[in-house]
Amino acid sequence: MAELSGKSVYLTGGASGIGKAVVEAFISEGAVVTVLDRSAEGLRALQEQFGDSVRTIMGDVTVYENHQRAVQCAVESFGKLDVLVSNAGVFDAFAKFVDVTPEAMSEAYDVLFSINVKGSFFAAKAAVDELKRTRGNMIFTVSGAGFYPDGGGVWYTASKHAQIGLLRQLAFELAPDIRVNAVAPGGTLTALSVIAPLRPFVNVVDNETKAKNIKRRNPLQIAMEPEDHVGAYILLASDKARAITGEVLASDGGLVVRGL
Ligand code: NAD
Repeated sequence: MAELSGKSVYLTGGASGIGKAVVEAFISEGAVVTVLDRSAEGLRALQEQFGDSVRTIMGDVTVYENHQRAVQCAVESFGKLDVLVSNAGVFDAFAKFVDVTPEAMSEAYDVLFSINVKGSFFAAKAAVDELKRTRGNMIFTVSGAGFYPDGGGVWYTASKHAQIGLLRQLAFELAPDIRVNAVAPGGTLTALSVIAPLRPFVNVVDNETKAKNIKRRNPLQIAMEPEDHVGAYILLASDKARAITGEVLASDGGLVVRGL
């Protein structure tokens, strides 16, 4: 039987990468999904692929009203909201703290924290009342960078630590009505974009090099693709996880085994 039969999900950043794979997996498990993303092209492709099982909202996660529109759309279209997946994010491509000018550092902070952290605050705030009604759950996409160094530079690493703080406090405050968890993917082959203020300070590596690096680093030696993480999201979103809250599920080829 489908694990998410009849569930209405609101997901950010579903036009590409991990978010898109989660949309696909959730729909095949019986869910309907409302997606907020800033990529018009990616949203058009989703709509064509999934038809009536998906609703798409074009907009930026840094604007609260966009989340309100998305939640309203989910409720009007599908009658309720059961799950929020706050997934949209951007990267600093391992930019080195000492190399970056104070001006670029400040701009990078504003851009990256607005998307990775404020975007999650806003998504949670806009969804909380509807999730309370359904005794639903929230899932944040974090990263190994939420726990240890070398998953990004200071901007990305600090932002992912901040998201984990958000999820833990929310799990505490919103119990017993709403479960709040996260998935921490390891390095994955996606188009995760480097924010503009840091581009002059980083070397962008090609996908082949990235695949080799990812494979070398994790004990299972997997060059992870977005589809490799969907099982973790399906579990946390489903009623099978009804006793799980405040948890971060690593989907990273076993990095913890290396003691990172
Ligand atoms: P991706 O670029 O393929 O997907 C991100 C999606 O978010 C895109 O569709 C993009 O348009 C959207 N997005 C970005 N900024 C937005 C904004 N301001 N408003 C609306 N939409 C926005 O990248 P991905 O790797 O799939 O990233 C998804 C999540 O996974 C991120 O939170 C990222 O930090 C996390 N993550 C990625 C990796 C990795 O190695 N790729 C590892 C761990 C965690």
